[in-house]
Amino acid sequence: MSSEPDDATKTICPYCGVGCGIRVLEGDEPGEMRFMPWGDAPVNEGSVCIKGGAATQVVDHEDRLTEPLIKENGEFREATWEEALDRVVDEMEGIREEHGPDGMGFFGSSKTFNEENYLIQKLARRYGTNQVDNCTRMCHASTVWALRTSLGMGAMTNSMADLEDSADVLWIQGANPGEQHPIANSQYFRQAVLEGATVIQVDPHANKTTRSFEIDDTDRHMHLQLKPGTDIPLLNVVLKTILERHEEDPDAGWIDEAFVAERTKGIDHLKETLADFDKEAAAEECGVPLADIEAAAEKYAMANDAAVFTGMGMSQHTCGVDNVQNEINLALITGNLGRPGTGVNPLRGQNNVQGTCDVGAMPNVLPGYQLVDDDEARESVEDVWGFEIPDEPGLTNVEISHAIGDTVHGLYVMGENPIMSEPDGNRTEKRFREDLDFMVVQDIFMTETAELADVVLPATTWAERDGTVTNTDRRVQRMRGVHKVHENTRHDLDILCEVGTRLFDGSEERSSSENRAKPGGAFEFDGPEEVFEELREVCPIMHGMTYDALGETGLHWPCYEEGDEGDPFLYEDTFETEDGLGRIEGVVHQEPKEVPDEEYPLVLTTARLEEHYNTGTMSRRSPTLSKQHPENFVDVHPNDAERYGIEDGDDVVLKSRRGEITVRADVTEDIKEGVVWTTPHFAAASANRLTNDVLDERAKIPEYKAASAEIEVDIET
Ligand code: SF4
Repeated sequence: MSSEPDDATKTICPYCGVGCGIRVLEGDEPGEMRFMPWGDAPVNEGSVCIKGGAATQVVDHEDRLTEPLIKENGEFREATWEEALDRVVDEMEGIREEHGPDGMGFFGSSKTFNEENYLIQKLARRYGTNQVDNCTRMCHASTVWALRTSLGMGAMTNSMADLEDSADVLWIQGANPGEQHPIANSQYFRQAVLEGATVIQVDPHANKTTRSFEIDDTDRHMHLQLKPGTDIPLLNVVLKTILERHEEDPDAGWIDEAFVAERTKGIDHLKETLADFDKEAAAEECGVPLADIEAAAEKYAMANDAAVFTGMGMSQHTCGVDNVQNEINLALITGNLGRPGTGVNPLRGQNNVQGTCDVGAMPNVLPGYQLVDDDEARESVEDVWGFEIPDEPGLTNVEISHAIGDTVHGLYVMGENPIMSEPDGNRTEKRFREDLDFMVVQDIFMTETAELADVVLPATTWAERDGTVTNTDRRVQRMRGVHKVHENTRHDLDILCEVGTRLFDGSEERSSSENRAKPGGAFEFDGPEEVFEELREVCPIMHGMTYDALGETGLHWPCYEEGDEGDPFLYEDTFETEDGLGRIEGVVHQEPKEVPDEEYPLVLTTARLEEHYNTGTMSRRSPTLSKQHPENFVDVHPNDAERYGIEDGDDVVLKSRRGEITVRADVTEDIKEGVVWTTPHFAAASANRLTNDVLDERAKIPEYKAASAEIEVDIET
């Protein structure tokens, strides 16, 4: 019998990191599911964007994987779970025997839940390696690094709700909430603007964010349209302007001297770094008038409360850590941290990318960002798990991919699609195709990566299972599933438990916690709540959370003890660094690793579309979403179009040193002359066939945002 609207199940949108609540209404058949708004959902109060409204469309899609598959002689055949799991376990044991535990790499997924990512990192570490990572490496690894190092926690310092009420200035750099976080933009940012807040957007591309703030007739908002890869010089102009003006008039409030003296260290390093800095030359390098950058600096510094929002335009560079450090510098010298309406706030992409990091699916940290090479932290987790954890950080996911055929011979991939998400896609595909001994993929669709696997395990979708996810402002929320659509699919959590139990069954190690009444092995769990109970035991920032306490509104971490209400904003009294101080550190401009030359004279930059989601596995299969943008395109400035003889709508070949794609030209002034802009969502014509796989030295994030390119009219059309 079909359910009534009142019976609809409350859960969370599976797409972006805003974490909107939605409801799912079941029909008569298991696959019949309908989206319903959730009127008093804590984050969005019933509003959703086009993705949220279309989320149920892919749950019962005809392309769903429904049976386990094993590849034989280059072809997949259906297999029983028994056969498929035996093969996975045999291959993993064989790789460990021949190459040691670092012969395997494990990919968690920001599209899956906290409990599942907790289990995959536990599986990797029980196997004997820290080589487990997730797609945060592709989006905000540098942000997490800078925030954790300089402030203490690798996450948004504030929450969306506290910004709406308090912020006077929203400084949005390298982020496009109008398209990537539409409900954050419409519900919180626009509300702040209607209440008088000023927006300063720093981005090479004019977009829906730019246009969404043209809602009043004042000219107080600014768009600083810089050249890709010049964020450090632009922020250094801002910082130097603030330092100079403070010297001229120390009482005007350019710098918060008391805050700097009591709560920070390193301002002298910033002053030394900028002592001989030439603002005029830097502004020219950015392609933005100096007077505009100085005016923006004044608006930010003179605000009572100013909040920085940062996105992948900042993080996806080889200088990504330094880019974000400069935003931290700005917030620290002006005292814009530790109260509502301030902070440095990464807008996270996927609905659980924050949580996937929080629960330790990264090669250098255990749950709660406890470092694997910190003996005390590691031993505290070992006490609960009952087995030893390797004490050296493992390779990151792009490093794992680069090591295929060398030190890495097998991969366990849960819900990720690295063939499309990694840079330099042609070479990535070649390595995966030719140099891997074994790969298992568990997913809901036959992704471009699953095509290359030896075993494919059919998983369930977001709408069919229970668990928790953590949104961009650290709010942990419960997702609730309705019935399974396909009988022979399994939840990711059940698959991981089964693989872990089969691999390690009979070993003497057992979870040793006295608090948890689970008598079985390290991978024997009776559902997600039991996994969550173990997670909170080893994860101090989530220790106070229970499923009951999360209820329908969720809780922000840190939540150290049961009964804590969680913190919507961080660092009120102290930073979570060793000495409690926020770290200021001057940084200098570093050009992208590839700059235009005679052969490739254009700068290629990339970004996502509102209607699509990363590698498009789900959004390309949604009729509503794919109708908006069925294929890829490239934005070209009118002057470049004229030079190349390109008309709007022409098919063009876009090339870099790593490959070429054929796409439609969109001639527009949204982009600067000399720059071309395209997207990664579409398999054959993905931007990632062209992007450069060079990495930030510390955070190992690839430089998706700047490469050199050439364009020509496609003569075959
Ligand atoms: Fe889903 Fe994000 Fe849209 Fe909210 S803003 S409905 S979370 S995609």
